[in-house]
Amino acid sequence: MSKNIEVHVIGAGLAGSEAAWQLAQAGFQVGLSEMRPLQKTPAHQTDQAAEMVCSNSFKSDDATSATGILKAEMRRLGSLLLQCAEATRVPAGNSLAVDRDAFSQMATTALKQHPNISWITAAETAPDLTIPTLIATGPLTAEPLAQWLSAICGGDRLFFYDAIAPIVERDSINMDIAFRASRYNKGEADFINCPLTEIEYERFMDALLAAERADLHDFDTPYFEACLPIEIMADRGRQTLRYGPMKPVGLDDPRTGRWPYAAVQLRQDTLAGDHYNLVGFQTRLKWGAQKEVLHLIPGLEAAEFVRFGSIHRNTYVQAPRVLDATLAVKNVPNLWIAGQLSGVEGYLESAAGGLAAAYFIQGILHGKPASPLPRETMLGALLHYLAHASLKDFGPTNAMLGLMPDLPNGLLDHRALKRAGGARGLKQAKGQAHRERALAALEAYLLEHGATT
Ligand SMILES: Cc1cc2nc3c(=O)[nH]c(=O)nc-3n(C[C@H](O)[C@H](O)[C@H](O)COP(=O)(O)OP(=O)(O)OC[C@H]3O[C@@H](n4cnc5c(N)ncnc54)[C@H](O)[C@@H]3O)c2cc1C
Repeated sequence: MSKNIEVHVIGAGLAGSEAAWQLAQAGFQVGLSEMRPLQKTPAHQTDQAAEMVCSNSFKSDDATSATGILKAEMRRLGSLLLQCAEATRVPAGNSLAVDRDAFSQMATTALKQHPNISWITAAETAPDLTIPTLIATGPLTAEPLAQWLSAICGGDRLFFYDAIAPIVERDSINMDIAFRASRYNKGEADFINCPLTEIEYERFMDALLAAERADLHDFDTPYFEACLPIEIMADRGRQTLRYGPMKPVGLDDPRTGRWPYAAVQLRQDTLAGDHYNLVGFQTRLKWGAQKEVLHLIPGLEAAEFVRFGSIHRNTYVQAPRVLDATLAVKNVPNLWIAGQLSGVEGYLESAAGGLAAAYFIQGILHGKPASPLPRETMLGALLHYLAHASLKDFGPTNAMLGLMPDLPNGLLDHRALKRAGGARGLKQAKGQAHRERALAALEAYLLEHGATT
């Protein structure tokens, strides 16, 4: 590595891209190592930075949701990836979804054109740790580096399985059957919906349960519960999908004027609107079987697949044993871990982890001790969970309001709120209170410890 490099970031995924850019913006010389295209992962399809391997969504943009609060904190901290996401946004109701190629392209350009970033194409195996080093190599970390990390962290890695949903060509969807609508007609009609009658649903279910699945060698490794393959959901009961990704509620079928028995939703995947992904339809069926089964969905009888679903083993470290709440590896100077490898789950959470790691590393480079973010912030709560969760039950986590400390008693008049707006009104008021507390805590923290931007 060149002598003037001051920080080494390994992995130009969601976390590493955000971290490298933040550190470079702060004036440090950053070496950013990325192994693609020299070495591929089983899920990435391009050699771009910050590639979104499955869905194209950064989840809910609702200001009072956990992901809405996390986004507000990331914006305050000057997130590059949220700027790229806003610029490449596609219609998706109240979610922040993007054209995945335009998004990655924009992030790649920002990184490659940054005067303080040296892009290194290399599959790193054993970083030298003479300078601050952030490992952000994600759930599909190449094996030699994963083994080095296990050895240096002194313990086993943990694994789970994660699956990818298929994408189809817009022009191959039969719009005489499928219809545009958003649930309860809220906002624009951004989704394409394929309606199923009870008979069609049962026929689909028979085919799904009988279809051939890709082999998994180590069956003990669990799935990530929030992202189960459709066939695993179907194994749990024939109605499970109707309460999950095939939920029909709030979708008025213009042909009948009623909600269908079940529905499959498709979300725009590209700015041009030529590709749509099947929302929540991650699967490990063999490709031939996927085609047969998904062609049974009314409207998708002749669907052309741009990408089939697939399944991958994800690696993450035993964070409560290995990391402190500033993502530093305990007892190993100069080493930090961020992104999914650190035990968070999701594009947004991974990018947020990269942002936080860059902030902590900057502090160290300025000679200041790293101080964890307040737990009242969504980001601080996530990092606190990584460092302090029970190891026995530890598994990757998304941003959730439940990770944040309870709101003080008496802050919300629960009964009055329920009377006024029902359970939904109460939920929103709670989210709003969490948001206000989080953003105030972040401001106070930045005032004390120094802002990044
Ligand atoms: C199959 C699958 C589907 C997923 N679907 C979703 C989804 O739909 N929605 C969602 O929010 N999250 C999803 N995730 C989870 C996760 O949030 C994403 O994987 C996210 O990209 C993680 O960000 P990251 O920065 O930690 O890792 P990545 O974005 O994967 O980035 C890691 C980078 O490190 C590189 N790398 C690996 N090893 C080395 C090495 N030794 N040297 C140099 N470079 C290396 C890789 O090429 C990659 O570019 C999915 C994950 C998987 C595996």
